[in-house]
Amino acid sequence: MDSGGGDTPVVKAAVVGGGLVGALQACFLAKRGFQVDLYEGREDIRKMEVVKGRSINLALSIRGRAALRHVGLEEEITSKGIPMRARRIHGRDGTLTNQPYDKDGQAILSVDRRNLNETLLTKAETFPNVKLHFSHKLTRADLDKGELAFSTPNGDAVSDTYDIVFGTDGAYSTMRRQLMRVNRINFSQEYIPHGYMELFIPPAKDGSFGMLPNYLHIWPRDEFMMIGLPNQDKTFTGTLFMPFDEFDRVHAKGEEGVIAFFQEHFPDAINIIGEENLRKTFMSSSGLPMVSVKCYPYHHKDKAVIMGDAAHAMVPFYGQGMNCGFEDCVVLDEILDKHNNNFKTALPEFSKIRSPDAQAMCDLAMYNYIEMRHLVNSKLFLMNKKLDNF
Ligand code: FAD
Repeated sequence: MDSGGGDTPVVKAAVVGGGLVGALQACFLAKRGFQVDLYEGREDIRKMEVVKGRSINLALSIRGRAALRHVGLEEEITSKGIPMRARRIHGRDGTLTNQPYDKDGQAILSVDRRNLNETLLTKAETFPNVKLHFSHKLTRADLDKGELAFSTPNGDAVSDTYDIVFGTDGAYSTMRRQLMRVNRINFSQEYIPHGYMELFIPPAKDGSFGMLPNYLHIWPRDEFMMIGLPNQDKTFTGTLFMPFDEFDRVHAKGEEGVIAFFQEHFPDAINIIGEENLRKTFMSSSGLPMVSVKCYPYHHKDKAVIMGDAAHAMVPFYGQGMNCGFEDCVVLDEILDKHNNNFKTALPEFSKIRSPDAQAMCDLAMYNYIEMRHLVNSKLFLMNKKLDNF
């Protein structure tokens, strides 16, 4: 720790991973007065033309909004979000049914992932005590010493030493692997047999939304499911979830096979997506994997802790992965307040409180994996339906 010229030493902190949770965590730490270095493996996404990666848009719920409020970003983000007040179920026979999320009209918001990540990075940069390092990929960590080593595109090896390290480097976390080398971490991961593929749904010919915008559109088909979330530019992002075997079968039949598959299972979606668009996207993409990760504890001594997907990746069917990661930042912030930044007592408490809650969210997400594609079709379910998020 550096005295920073004052009586209280300044905590030198590293955040590894500048995705959604890491960028937010850097803001929380900056507010505590820590000296923060944020390391992100990719280039600065604010300068990139196309950002490859996961879902284009996300459902932001009350958990995520509360976390954004802490850093003064709730209004900025929600003003660009599109409220989704109900599920709109597209039946096989073309019938449409609405299932409201809340009797008083509360909604989840469809927000743009890239805009959210960029806004968070820009916010982090406004703090004089935060430094962003892009194109720095963590390769090795000595967590007893707080020593981190990074690779950079020009081949330079960069290293530095920290009082505390926060690992927010996603589901395939290097930080988690480093933690598991030095600590007795219980860990499990599960890939589901389904993959996902994103399908672009353009605006209607007159430039308006091609479907009603204030809904989360769902085409539940038991073994398959498609969903559509609205975007600000009047497009929707469709996501098709189905077993990898089925993706292979459809691919093997070529473009005509794609159309035949949609005619059989999602006939009303063909016009909305557009035949040409459907053929091209399907044949040039493949199903992407989804993994659920549970572990305990999340920390190592008073030196390191993992958060967000690094600690608890979940399948996306409950729409809570990011929301839960954002909530990690709030929970840890409260614990650090309570323990006056004493990491030795705060980090074990974070693991103890947070891991069971996050594991429960992983289980709920897995349950919703079945519910969304299957149970939403059942009469009993429609009668008993009370609440959920997606
Ligand atoms: P990530 O977003 O994965 O960010 C990790 C960052 O770390 C990345 O920027 C990566 O480049 C960087 N990184 C990785 N390795 C290194 C390294 N070695 N060194 C330095 N940097 C590194 N959640 C919701 O709440 N609502 C939704 O509606 C929703 N929909 C989803 C739909 C799909 C199809 C999927 C797949 C997920 C969805 N999620 C949703 C989950 C959400 O995407 C994740 O929970 C969220 O992105 C987790 O944020 P994170 O910052 O922990 O990890």
